Amino acid sequence: MHIFDKYTRAGVQWERILQNGRQAVSMATQSRKKPETLYKILMISSEMVPFAKTGGLADVVGSLPRELAKLGHDVRVVIPRYYSIDPARWGLQPVLGSMGVWMGGALEWCMVYEKKMEDGVTVYFVEHNGFFGRNGLYHDAAMNDFLDNPRRFGFLSRAGLQVAVDTGFAPDVVHVHDWQSAAATAYLKTWFWDNPFLGKSASVLTIHNAAYQGIYPKHHFDYLGLGWNTFHADAFETFDYINLLKGGIWFADLVNTVSPGYAREITTPHGGFGLAPYLSNKGNSFYGILNGVDYGDWSPEVDRHIPASFSAEDLTGKAACKEALQKRFGLEVNPRLPLFAAIGRFVDQKGYHLLAPAIERALQEMQIQFVILGSGDPGLQELFGNMPARYPGRAGSFIGYNVELSHLIEAGADFFVMPSLYEPCGLNQLYSLRYGTLPIVHATGGLDDTVENYNEATGDGTGFKFWHPTVEGLYYTIGWANSTWWDRPQHVKKMITNAMSRDYSWDRSTAEYITAYEKAIANKKAYDSWPR
Ligand code: ADP
Repeated sequence: MHIFDKYTRAGVQWERILQNGRQAVSMATQSRKKPETLYKILMISSEMVPFAKTGGLADVVGSLPRELAKLGHDVRVVIPRYYSIDPARWGLQPVLGSMGVWMGGALEWCMVYEKKMEDGVTVYFVEHNGFFGRNGLYHDAAMNDFLDNPRRFGFLSRAGLQVAVDTGFAPDVVHVHDWQSAAATAYLKTWFWDNPFLGKSASVLTIHNAAYQGIYPKHHFDYLGLGWNTFHADAFETFDYINLLKGGIWFADLVNTVSPGYAREITTPHGGFGLAPYLSNKGNSFYGILNGVDYGDWSPEVDRHIPASFSAEDLTGKAACKEALQKRFGLEVNPRLPLFAAIGRFVDQKGYHLLAPAIERALQEMQIQFVILGSGDPGLQELFGNMPARYPGRAGSFIGYNVELSHLIEAGADFFVMPSLYEPCGLNQLYSLRYGTLPIVHATGGLDDTVENYNEATGDGTGFKFWHPTVEGLYYTIGWANSTWWDRPQHVKKMITNAMSRDYSWDRSTAEYITAYEKAIANKKAYDSWPR
């Protein structure tokens, strides 16, 4: 099929993806009540909370295995033993003294540590000093990508499977995440197709962000040992480069991403960063499953980082948090002024280049306060960094990473701004809802899925949305929230109650993943039954 034929098919996939999502949710609700079958699940990932994190991927791999284990599933996770993961500090036990991993024509030796987590999950750490014995996960301190990344993560993908074989674990499902472990889906169907431990394993690939695909020069391909017959446009090849994520999509028995909205967007021609046709080709084996929130960490009732706890029934603690936040950032302590906030990485995706001029204008024209926490782009760091000097008592900023402040901001602010150009799922808007901090979001991906737009006639909704990611679009939406604050306080109150009642816990998402595993297993059985 020609690539453009696939594009035209992308549109008709929309409805199908939506339907699949709905079907998955309803099936998931049934399976949540009583897990019929218990599965053996092997996850391979480059990140996992609490051991190594650069983004949302780590949160998911930190939470989902635990939730699955709670239901009785046997979950093992393989991650690299990065230099920063100290075996003594984490109490890691050596489990495989030397494990041989065949790459293309080369046998790599490594060792494997194990940690049995209290929640029942077993984590394996692959130690290979040549690949992981350095600072940084993907790049050095100057943000230069490590040149051997395709080898490092090709090796991780292959080694993760070898851990299963060498520990005698025969998973029903191998669940991999993003380009870093995507190649495991291909190894399963090539090298391990008749392996006694892995020959029957189905594979699921979760895409946390389609912008990062693992695109590298093809001279690394021999090392990966995947065979040049997989280096074609439907699998590992993109304009004569290796594309690890695309190859994973081709070989996986099921692919999902982290929200139904983002699944829809990345199958449209302008979404998906070139992956749209390949995702569309997966038919009903591609859809979105929303990430869950760890409410044990992110709930105003139990949050350890905030000065006062609160709930939807009693918001007194929220007022105390707002006061603490105003003091912390040197703002005028005044409960009447609406406090807008933002937290995140200053990268193009997050839309802070729209926020900077929009909030600047709002600060000049409206009676509002603003705080921001984040780091990244040097220009934005400077701009937000000197905002407090330009708007004393009205604007506050912290340039850097600070977990405690992120909790205080979520709890103490009134509105939370997320102008992301695209957002696969987004966590901060989910936290905001829980803390009664009304999100102001660009209606895209997971933001569109999880925030309900304010209805000025009835006061319904959980936040404020805008559809055009422009400075004006954002500015006027900030204005809309501001006028609602002053003119319709009863609506603000109602929306806070609405927002705090929404449930984005892992319960729901976990059940949906189990349904996905079932579908992947069925797909694998069908694949195995094809005549060869
Ligand atoms: P992404 O994974 O694309 O960065 P998400 O919204 O899914 O975006 O998750 C971001 C997570 O990182 C949230 O938990 C957020 O609170 C946290 N975070 C981002 N920047 C900072 C920061 N500067 N300080 C503390 N936490 C931060």
